[in-house]
Amino acid sequence: MRQPLVAGNWKMNGSLESIGVLLDGIKAGMEDVTKAAVAVCAPAIYIPTVQQQLQGSAIAWGGQDVSAESAGAYTGEIATSMLKDFGCTYVIVGHSERRAYHGESDQLVARKFAAARAAGLVPILCVGETLEEREQGITEQVVARQMDAVIELEGVAALADGVVAYEPVWAIGTGKTATPEQAQDVHGFIRGRVAELDGGVAEGLQILYGGSMKPGNAAELIAKPDIDGGLIGGAALSAEDFLGICRAAN
Ligand code: PEP
Repeated sequence: MRQPLVAGNWKMNGSLESIGVLLDGIKAGMEDVTKAAVAVCAPAIYIPTVQQQLQGSAIAWGGQDVSAESAGAYTGEIATSMLKDFGCTYVIVGHSERRAYHGESDQLVARKFAAARAAGLVPILCVGETLEEREQGITEQVVARQMDAVIELEGVAALADGVVAYEPVWAIGTGKTATPEQAQDVHGFIRGRVAELDGGVAEGLQILYGGSMKPGNAAELIAKPDIDGGLIGGAALSAEDFLGICRAAN
């Protein structure tokens, strides 16, 4: 039985003040979230604050991106060891916004996955197709290519140390959620593809859905057999909405 996971991705939002209020609100409502794991992925500069507020709570925290390099002359980058220094459990790699706006290739994302894993962080590997790719009928091809980059670099067993988030790009921040059936089709495809290589890894792999998940649609999505929780953008900025999703996953 896979534990459900709900991870918030705050993206480039928040301030010292608003993060304090948000985390107080989430912590106050967590008592009935007993089964699902919960995490928030914060802008790097706020991670020390998040650590201070969440230490000792049931909520884990993480980064939204990380360097594939371990240290050195990489101005502006954050190393996996730095995330570890501030108690991070998770780090998102290959979010579609990084792939689209920062030109991150499948190979670079795979190296980030490897670096995170080597440091003892749990990489949340984002995969997903654009609207154009869905309309061309190549969703599975795109997702397979993104997954394969990691499998080729690290071997399928590496997926046992990570989480996959299926995030159709056309559903991110648009209010257009994939239907539970559309999402399940792709989640089933991902698990099936991993199962062809290693049944045990496939069975244990948490596959999250991301893309305009809200309290109102979370239960139906997470009820699908291969959807193990959510990666939440917009709704993670409201304690009430985020908790609503956590309760649905619970
Ligand atoms: C995301 O950024 O990972 C995401 C799923 O965003 P939203 O929930 O706002 O669509």
